[in-house]
Amino acid sequence: MSKKYITTAIDYPNAAPHMGHVLEKVLADVCARWFRLSGHDTRFQIGTDEHGVKNQRTAAKEGISPKELVDRNVPLFKDLYDKLNISYDYFVRTTDQDVHFPTVIELWKKLKDSGMLEKRNYTALYCSGCERFMTNKDLVDGKCPDHQKAPEEVTEENWFFLLSKDSKWLKKLLTDKNGYTIVPKFRQQETLSLIEQGLEDISFSRPKSSLDWGVPVPDDDNQTMYVWCDALTNYISPLGYLTDKEDKTYWDDAEVTHVIGKDIARFHALYWPSMLKNAGVKTPDKLLVHGFLTSEGQKMSKSLGNVVVPSEVIDKYGIDPLRFYLSHEVPVGRDGDFSWDRMQKMYDSKLRNDIGNLLNRVLVLVGKDGGKINVPEETEIIGDTWKKYAEKMNSFELSEALQIVCSLVSDCNAYIDKKKPWGLEIEDREKVLGVLSECLRHIGLMLLPFVPDTAEIISIQLGVSYADKLQNKGFSLEGINLWGSDKSWCAAGKPEILFEDLEK
Ligand SMILES: [Zn+2]
Repeated sequence: MSKKYITTAIDYPNAAPHMGHVLEKVLADVCARWFRLSGHDTRFQIGTDEHGVKNQRTAAKEGISPKELVDRNVPLFKDLYDKLNISYDYFVRTTDQDVHFPTVIELWKKLKDSGMLEKRNYTALYCSGCERFMTNKDLVDGKCPDHQKAPEEVTEENWFFLLSKDSKWLKKLLTDKNGYTIVPKFRQQETLSLIEQGLEDISFSRPKSSLDWGVPVPDDDNQTMYVWCDALTNYISPLGYLTDKEDKTYWDDAEVTHVIGKDIARFHALYWPSMLKNAGVKTPDKLLVHGFLTSEGQKMSKSLGNVVVPSEVIDKYGIDPLRFYLSHEVPVGRDGDFSWDRMQKMYDSKLRNDIGNLLNRVLVLVGKDGGKINVPEETEIIGDTWKKYAEKMNSFELSEALQIVCSLVSDCNAYIDKKKPWGLEIEDREKVLGVLSECLRHIGLMLLPFVPDTAEIISIQLGVSYADKLQNKGFSLEGINLWGSDKSWCAAGKPEILFEDLEK
């Protein structure tokens, strides 16, 4: 059983979570659940990035301390993810002085010892929205494109991380077959072209006078660490890395995948592996870069008033329909769009009509014959669906994998229409319904990473033997995803409507 460790970016809690946060967590959760189902010992971590000037300023505006601000806002994130059934194993907070700080401080010391940190005087443009220095290349009409304002010119003493020294090594790491794989491929090309353009050293600290809310730089009382060494280190600090609590199980011995948004791809593709290598730590294996979510075809922004609030979608449709939408409508790596109209259409067609009706039609007919389940050898409909599905899941093509499940559902609906089991002799009818019930059992398993509660309800209604264990972290597909492999399954449960008609 090989080990997997999957992480998301840590969220910046200076405002409530939005759909972009949800998209990333659902995506990573689908992967984590798939890893566990396919038999991997998996660790899944999410968390919050709580330091920095933005939180310091937001807190000051509200007349509270930064700590009070984050303590108030972090539960907004955690509660939403719990509600969304995000099956994380650990929630890291970068203000955790016991869990997070020791590794951050040790990592800094290692980098200093390796000669990769240097103190310099620095004058540059700084965007407080992005919390980073910007070059003219980053600006559009003299303004930060993300925050629509001109950056401030700042001169100060900073510690610098000498990233430029690692250009060659990074190029090799990102192109080596056993190096650091970026998914999708075009993001790898983007990163390589950044290296071609020449990497600049990065400002790694700020004077305490301008940034106080952060991890103090060891042996330099006047400096606070910048976001990089603090935030990126969240992936290893809960493992106790570089401290006497060190447990390398889910780092050195695991395949490590970081799931992040395209806006922070270069920090994860370049800064982070270089930091690790210079501290003598193994580099991660995979970087899965997702796109952004637009709203009705437009960039989501407060000024446009088109921000989709996750809880509004959940209140109207429920958890699983939202998870289904994000998995189905947003191809991994590309930008996606949220539209209320498409949400409604998807709910009605894919969930209510296709999946919901299939389950109900089959179970009502099975019930009329006494509820007995008898799975025949006939595997014509399912064919090599599992193989195709697993290939897509393993290469992070989640939306394609979900479409494969939807095709199986359509094939089953076509089969029932063609065979018209209600008009058949009992023996033939039992055979047709046995095929359909078994297909539904597999559909439930394939849907499990995407819509875990729905998968569980399908399995309960079918009456399969393992329905109550389905959402346990130790549950795996081994032995149950072959045709007819649930030997103790002999009777169907009670059919109930899976997705209500919301128009009624
Ligand atoms: Zn900015």
